[in-house]
Amino acid sequence: MTVKKVATTVCFVLAGAFCCYAETSGIWICAKCNTRVEQTRRPLPAKCPVSGYHQWNRVADAGKNLFICRKCALKVHAAARPQPAPCPGGGYHLWDKL
Ligand SMILES: [Zn+2]
Ligand SMILES: [Zn+2]
Repeated sequence: MTVKKVATTVCFVLAGAFCCYAETSGIWICAKCNTRVEQTRRPLPAKCPVSGYHQWNRVADAGKNLFICRKCALKVHAAARPQPAPCPGGGYHLWDKL
């Protein structure tokens, strides 16, 4: 490996690490089984207990405010009111701030 190549590689690694660090973690909810996870990147499409694979929607940035869905009682800690993603209670989640 040349010095230049090493330098480029190091650059990429640093940029990648910085990227991950800077990203806000998000709230992801599976549209089918209502599983909720909190992480920066889209979760892997693992098997969903309902059918096929989880179908992830990023509903909000993770934060300190507690919201609860009026229909399915799912709770999330979000920075702001989450998006109205599909709710197992019918239609879309209806978020109330607790
Ligand atoms: Zn699922
Ligand atoms: Zn709901």
